[in-house]
Amino acid sequence: MSVRLRFAPSPTGELHIGSVRTILYNHLFARQRGGRLILRIEDTDQERLVPGAVDSIYAGLHWLGITWDEGPREGGPHAPYVQSERLPLYQKHAQELVAKGAAYYCFCSKERLAELRRQQEARHELTRYDRHCRNIPVAEATARAKAESHVVRLKVPDEGTLSIEDLVHGHIEWQVNTIEDQVLLKSDGFPTYHLAVVVDDHVMGITHIMRGEEWVASVPKHLLIYRAFSWDIPPMAHFPSVLGPDGKKLSKRHGATAVAEFRKDAYLPEALINYLALVGWAPGSEEEIFSMDDLTRLWKIEQVQSSPGKWDKERLDFFNGVWIRRLSVDELVRRLEPFVPADWDRETLKRIVPHIQERMKTLKDAKDQIAFLFTDDITYDPKDLVPAKRDPAGTVEALAKVTVHLRYLEPFIATRIEAALKAVAEEMDWKQGDVNKPVRLAITGRTIGPPLYESLEVLGRDRSLQRIEGAMDALGKANS
Ligand code: GLU
Repeated sequence: MSVRLRFAPSPTGELHIGSVRTILYNHLFARQRGGRLILRIEDTDQERLVPGAVDSIYAGLHWLGITWDEGPREGGPHAPYVQSERLPLYQKHAQELVAKGAAYYCFCSKERLAELRRQQEARHELTRYDRHCRNIPVAEATARAKAESHVVRLKVPDEGTLSIEDLVHGHIEWQVNTIEDQVLLKSDGFPTYHLAVVVDDHVMGITHIMRGEEWVASVPKHLLIYRAFSWDIPPMAHFPSVLGPDGKKLSKRHGATAVAEFRKDAYLPEALINYLALVGWAPGSEEEIFSMDDLTRLWKIEQVQSSPGKWDKERLDFFNGVWIRRLSVDELVRRLEPFVPADWDRETLKRIVPHIQERMKTLKDAKDQIAFLFTDDITYDPKDLVPAKRDPAGTVEALAKVTVHLRYLEPFIATRIEAALKAVAEEMDWKQGDVNKPVRLAITGRTIGPPLYESLEVLGRDRSLQRIEGAMDALGKANS
């Protein structure tokens, strides 16, 4: 039997990396078994909808390289894949349970329910529906339902035990007497999450339900609904949450959490996938660099940990650096496109990129480091040209020697430039750093950046000399 899994995000905001981790695990489980993946939009809580959220889900998942087979825009045998477009299906199923005597109409007003709650709280009791409408004779309830506002509630048995064998957590069990007669269908004809998720997972032929741990508390309600319909219960896995470094649920307080932010912050999708896979999965080896293909081959649900994973931004940065270094120069230039000005010469970019690839943490790091190649507007404080324990006159002398060496150097390439600057250090009897420091500042306006000799090579002889001479002038002026 081929497996069918689903991602069922609610369009209530930007796609969160915690949801992505859940989606990724579904993806890996389905793909490694040659199964099918379904994207279903769970928008029954209409008050929490955020415009643009579905676009954000699509954009984020596409960017990350997560694929699926059926969904709102892809179509498929169970279309539509948006719950708000499936209302008649849920209404029909709610009716079916009423007809079977497994559910009932409830006419209690909001005010009555609020008052009930208030009284229960005052008595320090569990707040729950008191089954006021449960025993209205069926004929009377059916007649009233035609005219009166009502909800449909599940008739929860008085006692019993419910349990699942969770694929991550093992045996979990609940006492039925802790569960209230939950609402299945609201007065506006919308289903609750509980009814919609069970009906859809069943009719869409979902073979494995895998979602975040925050849904465990809903499981006993779902089990009762499955039982009321006499449907088989698919195996379930509840993945532990992704926590922030302080052990609290990962949220905006901890920094970026939306996929779109990581994209904007110049992370590679490969790095995010690699790192996210490891938040909650122990591969059982020292290896930790995994592509999506590797993960599809190696990831095992049995290795998903039952304790929460901690989000560690520095680890993500590490993976990002690794994945940047794995790109070919052409590919890296292509990935840099959104992060560098459109008018920067692409050939120059291609020449400098190999020299910064080694040190980049994110794609954004490149721009400031290499801007000196694309502008002649280099600014710095001339005082900073002078190395510690040296003086301006000595610095001018060293720079003058550099210009002499560089002016006729043939060919003007990094290895020759290096030899030339070494010769200057010897002539001056200075440390190499003392020669290189003012040269670097003169040509880049910065104290750190790509390797100096390569920077000079790519900048070219004329522009390099101009800038070094400019620095000598600036020092001379500052000194006179
Ligand atoms: N709609 C839920 C969410 O937004 C998913 C619930 C489920 O997977 O059953 O995460």
